[in-house]
Amino acid sequence: MFDRPETQLSLFDAHDAPPFIVRHSRRARRLTVRVHVGGRVEVVVPPRTGQRTVREFLHRHHDWIETRRERARRECPEPRPFPPDRLELAAFGETWQLRTVPGAGRARLVAAPAGGAGTAQVLELRGLPPRPADLRRLLRAWVGARAAAGLMPWLAALAREMGCEYRRLSIRRQRTRWGSCSTRGTISLNACLAFQRPEIVRYLLVHELAHTRHMNHSARFWRLVATHEPDWRNLDRELLGGWRRVPDWMMNDDD
Ligand SMILES: [Zn+2]
Repeated sequence: MFDRPETQLSLFDAHDAPPFIVRHSRRARRLTVRVHVGGRVEVVVPPRTGQRTVREFLHRHHDWIETRRERARRECPEPRPFPPDRLELAAFGETWQLRTVPGAGRARLVAAPAGGAGTAQVLELRGLPPRPADLRRLLRAWVGARAAAGLMPWLAALAREMGCEYRRLSIRRQRTRWGSCSTRGTISLNACLAFQRPEIVRYLLVHELAHTRHMNHSARFWRLVATHEPDWRNLDRELLGGWRRVPDWMMNDDD
């Protein structure tokens, strides 16, 4: 399940609240708050909700929000040098060395033919040198495509193994979750899964596929998950901290 485009975006400060973003949503029936990776606070409100109502709401949930922000800061991706010199796609057991090959034309990323066994694969940045924001966009798109290529057959194979059916796979860059499954049978997976251990990714795929049978987290749901992944508890916990393994340039949404 995913969020519809916002109707309005406004930003304002309140002395007793952390900086937050208010999003007016036509579908919202009540006020909800989420804390994104990195600690950004977003309040989703029904249309025509006044600032005062929002502030009171934030005040009421102050302790919960602070706890979440604290955790989000701890789990936040570490800032890393940019551009990166290599990409570790742990999910697929791949290391890509980023190499700049200046030339004409717009900047683009091209996977170079692989060298010998055990050597890192090379990802070439060709064309005119891009601005950092453009390079971040290119890298995010490349990781997204690589994640789609790697996750699609994996999910299909697991679905056969579990006897589960889904309609469609969509690869996205969700800010608050690793995956989801809609009532229509669309499984959405986070492109950032590419940076997680294969065991973790497999667990998440099992989890989302189990939702095609049980659209909840009932005991029956977890029994089905456990049948295919007995170690689900530990893996689920590890996945919560998985944001730390994601390069921060994957998460920036300001460019
Ligand atoms: Zn779930």
